Amino acid sequence: MKVNKKAKFIRRRLILTFLLVIPVLLYKGYKEFNSKMVQANKTVAANKITTTNNIKEETSGKKENYKEYKPEVNRSNVSSEGQKYTYDAKEVKDILDNKGKNDGEKIVFLTFDDGPSVTVTPKILDVLKNYNVKATFCLIGKEINASEGSKNLVKRIFKEGHALANHTYSHNLKSLYPQNKTNVEYFMEEVEKTNSAIKSIVGQDFNTRVLRMPGGYMSRKYYSDPNLEEFNAKLEEKGMYSIDWNAYDFDSEGSKKYAAELLNEVIKSVGTKEKVVLLMHDTYGKEETAKALPQIIEYLKRQGYEFRTLS
Ligand SMILES: [Zn+2]
Repeated sequence: MKVNKKAKFIRRRLILTFLLVIPVLLYKGYKEFNSKMVQANKTVAANKITTTNNIKEETSGKKENYKEYKPEVNRSNVSSEGQKYTYDAKEVKDILDNKGKNDGEKIVFLTFDDGPSVTVTPKILDVLKNYNVKATFCLIGKEINASEGSKNLVKRIFKEGHALANHTYSHNLKSLYPQNKTNVEYFMEEVEKTNSAIKSIVGQDFNTRVLRMPGGYMSRKYYSDPNLEEFNAKLEEKGMYSIDWNAYDFDSEGSKKYAAELLNEVIKSVGTKEKVVLLMHDTYGKEETAKALPQIIEYLKRQGYEFRTLS
């Protein structure tokens, strides 16, 4: 009996111990399992983050490619493509003022005033592209802001390597030169307005030193404009140069001329000049200028001229 009792007691202890151990083991097992699961989840989560980042990078990479065209202009009036064709505007001004030296290099600067126009400017650009020749476009702010089409043309002019010059905002002689005297403050306001119009299209870094005065700087001199000194000081302060011309196709003078006549005017006015700033117009109604341009370019090429832009 005594033995039986002892055996019973031992059995009970064993069962009790067993019953106590099982939950401990189970708990331990659960903990281990749980920690493994947490680890596994962490890995999955980490992988997910990496994947998400990759997707994000891929997406932003794609976005970069589709980013709107923003040329690097480095505070100049040409795109990076146009840099190769530029010529210092200050030197050109000196040449026109007979202060510059001739160096034996025949250079022509094609300049197109009063644009952009959605009818003629594209034709001019097509011809220039065909001959791989760069020009300078003297833009009127009002014409730039006229339509989405004209704004797109400014972008095209710039992208294709041509130079942009400022030709005031309104081109209104009565407002710019009231009583035949330059209203310096108002004039510069218009210059700024046109500059802003161009900047909004080709980028805030845009800057042009080239000014083409409506009617020309020469007309201000001709009329002995009393405000010319003040105006010159303002231009110097702004680092700008007023560039006139020494050759002209006469597409805005007198009666309407046909392409052949425009070419003759170019031949006459270019003469034997070594450096030529040729004035033409790409505004509305100047289709004959676009028509004459291939022959004008071919003639100038035959004469040995290199084509550069004012910058
Ligand atoms: Zn003009």
